[in-house]
Amino acid sequence: MNNHKINIAIDGYSSCGKGTLAKELAKELGYLFIDSGAMYRAVTLALIRNDIAIDDLEAIGALLPKLEISFEYNGVLNHYQTLLNGDNIESEIRTMKVSNLVSPVSKIDAVRTFLVRQQKAIGQNKGVVMDGRDIGTVVFPDAELKIFMTAQPEIRAQRRLTELKQNGDILSTFDNVLENLKSRDLQDSTRLNSPLRQAEDAIVIDNSNLSRAEQKVLALNLAYEKIGQL
Ligand code: C5P
Repeated sequence: MNNHKINIAIDGYSSCGKGTLAKELAKELGYLFIDSGAMYRAVTLALIRNDIAIDDLEAIGALLPKLEISFEYNGVLNHYQTLLNGDNIESEIRTMKVSNLVSPVSKIDAVRTFLVRQQKAIGQNKGVVMDGRDIGTVVFPDAELKIFMTAQPEIRAQRRLTELKQNGDILSTFDNVLENLKSRDLQDSTRLNSPLRQAEDAIVIDNSNLSRAEQKVLALNLAYEKIGQL
């Protein structure tokens, strides 16, 4: 294999395993994994913590430059952690409180401009797998490989609920998780600023009936094919 690196954009609906696939690809290829959704969640958490309403654009504008979002790999727990100004916020950004507010927050132009600039900079030297909603269309329009993932909403809700329960959530139910997914999908795909949509050159993977291993092999083959063409 040659030493050329590519960028891989993985977009799609909420909770359809984009992050899982992105992490596996990054690990296999020795690339950097970036969860762009975690960045929107971090901003949302910062607004909650600072008691800033989502229509207070002045306060939001003043807060954003003070936020430093970074990622760290925890080798003991074998997972990535999101840090906000050095604090580990990984568990907190996955709560339903943040999930319920993140789509309205990610509609705010100033928030998108702030985060997209950072995401583009991360991809400058290639070798990045980033998952989100607008990666193939806005953040890395030149990504060599673009994947658009989808799965049936009920299957996604069940997977998400299992994950929440594993993290100790005793309050969430199948119905409210499903409701949150549908509501975020609708808000994300109908917003004016960089809505969730499939890039023209994206390859669709519907993983409703695919195992994690099958989906990984499929995507890895696509990546090797692209790398081989460089
Ligand atoms: O990927 P995740 O579900 O954690 O993303 C949370 C939310 O962040 C999405 O529902 C969407 O509103 C927003 N988001 C976005 N653009 C991205 C990634 C996430 O607007 N690139």
